[in-house]
Amino acid sequence: MIFIIIKFIAYRDEEGKPYILPVVRDIELQVVQDEKRKHEYLPISGLADFNLAMAELLLGEGNFNSFKERIAVVQCIAGTGSLRVAFEFLNKFHTSKVVAISEPTWENHKSIIRESHFIWKPYRYYESSTKALDVKGMLEDLEAFPEGTIVLLHACAHNPTGVDPTFSDWEKILKLIKVKHHFPVFDVAYQGGLATGDPKTDAGAVCLAVQLEIEFFACQSCSKIFGLYDERTGALTCFLASARAKQAVESQLKIILRTMISNPPHHGARVVATILKSTKLRQEWLQTIKAMTERILKMRQELYTRLKRLSTPGDWSHIVNQKGMFTFTGLTESQCALLTEKHHVYLVSNGRINICGLTNENVDYVANAIYQVVTSDC
Ligand code: PMP
Repeated sequence: MIFIIIKFIAYRDEEGKPYILPVVRDIELQVVQDEKRKHEYLPISGLADFNLAMAELLLGEGNFNSFKERIAVVQCIAGTGSLRVAFEFLNKFHTSKVVAISEPTWENHKSIIRESHFIWKPYRYYESSTKALDVKGMLEDLEAFPEGTIVLLHACAHNPTGVDPTFSDWEKILKLIKVKHHFPVFDVAYQGGLATGDPKTDAGAVCLAVQLEIEFFACQSCSKIFGLYDERTGALTCFLASARAKQAVESQLKIILRTMISNPPHHGARVVATILKSTKLRQEWLQTIKAMTERILKMRQELYTRLKRLSTPGDWSHIVNQKGMFTFTGLTESQCALLTEKHHVYLVSNGRINICGLTNENVDYVANAIYQVVTSDC
């Protein structure tokens, strides 16, 4: 029986299998075989080489070198852990008690914000009629929030919609944030991996915030971009107004981390630091994430082409225009239920699919199934 799952949240290869990046596997083997390796505790703020590499990856070497006195970095338990630490800190030290989030957003954002004793309020983001960004609505809502509101932004590959602002949208968004003295928290879960395939492009918004001299927190995850889902590897990088602020923030973050995790795990951080520090290994990593991204782009195109060839009612160009692993198909809840019940294609009831679930083998079947539910619903 055919059984196609396109609702999961991790990358899958052409055969639909979990994927270990070859360069990650090589370094892991090297680490395990290293007889000098110890299992001593890391410092509270984590592995220094890893923190440096993550900040440089995010901000670029130039920005990092120019502003290193003003950049605080701590290692965290992947993207989720760094968001949790960021909001714990902000709850202690920021005056805003509200966090503005995109509508929709990754569901866990709401829980993390709530557990950090904030309330969240949505800003307009996704326009279902165009299946694109409602930049006008977003700017109006950000303008309407009281000065100094904390604003959570997806740096790239927005989850769940796959809809990202263009660079010129980001210019408007960040200039407004600066004027309103809002405090941005960037969620950087997909930099380089799976969005555009280029870490520099994907960090465009974050680097623009540096140029505009906006203080921010950036919560970085290595789960998707290194395929280290279970090693819980990530960092919180903070861009601050002064060297004094950096020292104060770093020391307070350490107090929070001490009671939450005491100190972070070593393995994933060591693997990532080793890769990013070496020109050769870094190049290998860049090639792999580019190839992973290209597979996603190809499957987007394949699905789109088939839907058009079948003359499926509707405009499906959003499938090729959206970014990252996820696509908001625009299918209704009842169409999603029909896809699952009748065709055994399993997707999220809000219409989100993981493009990595598509392969050369199953894309025809999925396109046909979508065609059938869309036409039977008309
Ligand atoms: N933010 C977003 C937008 C995500 O999609 C995810 C993973 N699904 C995360 C954060 C958390 O990632 P991690 O597994 O590194 O905690």
